[in-house]
Amino acid sequence: MDKRMLKNLGPEPELVLCPYCEQKIITKTSIKLLNSTKLFVCLMCLVITLAPLALVVYKESDRIVKHKCTSCKKTIGTYLLT
Ligand SMILES: [Zn+2]
Repeated sequence: MDKRMLKNLGPEPELVLCPYCEQKIITKTSIKLLNSTKLFVCLMCLVITLAPLALVVYKESDRIVKHKCTSCKKTIGTYLLT
């Protein structure tokens, strides 16, 4: 993970100083969705009876809010939904 990633971001867009372009911006948030590769991995895990592990991977990957800079478009932080 990039050292410049901001901490203490919430699930909503926030006014921050971007660590990359140093502009004062309101972050653009998006929830990271499960992609087909991860779904395939989950199915494989279920098949080989590693279901609990697969579910942990699924839940974590499906509940991350990404904060992006509206100026330079870089991801400047994440927030894990609980
Ligand atoms: Zn920026």
